[in-house]
Amino acid sequence: MKKHKKKKKKGNKVQIAVKAATITIVGAAFLFGLACLLEKGLRIDERGAVVEAWKNSVSQNTYNTELISQDRREAVEQAERLAAAYDYDGAINRIREIEGYETDIELQVKMNIYEFAKASCVPVNINEVTHVFYHTLVVDPRRAFANQDTNFQAVGNNQWMTTIDEFKKITQEMYDRGYVIVGLHDLIDVSTDENGSIVYQPATIMLPPGKKAYVLSQDDLCYYHSYDNYGYAAKMILDENGKPICEYIQEDGTIVTGAYDVVPLLDAFIEEHPDASYRGAKGTIALTGYNGILGYRTDNSYLDINGDISHAKKNWLKAHPDFDIEKERAEARKVAKAMKEDGWEFASHTWGHIRIGDADLAQVMADTQKWHENVEPLVGKTDTIIFAHGQDLGIWGNYNEANGKYQYLREQGYSIFCNVDAGQYRTWFGKDYLRQGRRNLDGFRIYYNAIGQQDNVADLFDASKIIDPLRPPVPPL
Ligand SMILES: [Zn+2]
Repeated sequence: MKKHKKKKKKGNKVQIAVKAATITIVGAAFLFGLACLLEKGLRIDERGAVVEAWKNSVSQNTYNTELISQDRREAVEQAERLAAAYDYDGAINRIREIEGYETDIELQVKMNIYEFAKASCVPVNINEVTHVFYHTLVVDPRRAFANQDTNFQAVGNNQWMTTIDEFKKITQEMYDRGYVIVGLHDLIDVSTDENGSIVYQPATIMLPPGKKAYVLSQDDLCYYHSYDNYGYAAKMILDENGKPICEYIQEDGTIVTGAYDVVPLLDAFIEEHPDASYRGAKGTIALTGYNGILGYRTDNSYLDINGDISHAKKNWLKAHPDFDIEKERAEARKVAKAMKEDGWEFASHTWGHIRIGDADLAQVMADTQKWHENVEPLVGKTDTIIFAHGQDLGIWGNYNEANGKYQYLREQGYSIFCNVDAGQYRTWFGKDYLRQGRRNLDGFRIYYNAIGQQDNVADLFDASKIIDPLRPPVPPL
């Protein structure tokens, strides 16, 4: 028995040696071959495919998880994830932390692969990065879209909202077409000029040939009272692993939890496809404050049931006699923290969903202070404001520096300004700020593209294939 065991161990050693030798030969031959090809002028768009083929062959051949230690395996897995997310330097550094990497053939080959993958990348044209956005997703189209003829809100649901089914298909199709999520801040290179003033310039994002960068945002992730009973999730919570998921109240009143909105759906997608995101970037969540955030009733206005508050708030307070605002805030803060740790960012959507263009300076100031008081303590400071109702502070191009509302918002720390724009991409670098137009991938856009009356999403997906079969015809605006 003992003897047999020993023999087996010896066998493993032989196996490793053979494997290492194979890798060395294959690796050396490949690297030599690739070097020759590059010398012969292999086109930049062809290099990605070569590296891809090599990566596939290596991951199948070199990596016997039974033969290596847990630590090493974890380190290699982390490096692989970093490389998949286009952080090749991070991947190489991770490998360098493994003891004995200098003489380890497998690790050396991996590092070479990362170097080649990095060398094959090309810079993204930051001015051509598209920005798409969603609202809260529809979980149950039957509940959201019923009675289009008589229910004004059901029409709004149909026009402005995307269903889970549609979101999943869009995300998959964009991924299949080579789209990679980048963060808003990934677009910006911040430096200081000779006077010590901040300067914003397009950053360098390197991606493999054929990949396209895009930014994603989600507006109004507050689960307003007005969404109740329309088939939307009710709040964001954390699962047993501390990851953000949703609570959904079914038609019969029973509560279920799961991936019922953009955040957990995209998290799961990127977990499965790490190359769908540039260095783990997720989206930017734009929050108002008047109904609280993420489904928690965190706003000061809930403290006075007899105050000048909406009927919806009064009714909610009556139905929740045990309401404790500090508990709500603590929960919201916990969820926001977990989201940030997962790569999500937060933006102001103005506290009261105001029309920034129509509002006067006093209104903008009062509104901004409410956001600072009620939302910022829960999600942290932000430099990003995503305007509501598609409005903006001024026409496209440099903002008018004399505009009082612009001056005020700059003083309040905002330097990234987003509006709504149907164009394929719209990015503007001011001296020390960024403006970006965002495309609404909502029911209106999807429906009118699906029936051929609009043509402004074909670069992202085929609307006729992704439209939810349960979506009724969308009334014109
Ligand atoms: Zn909004």
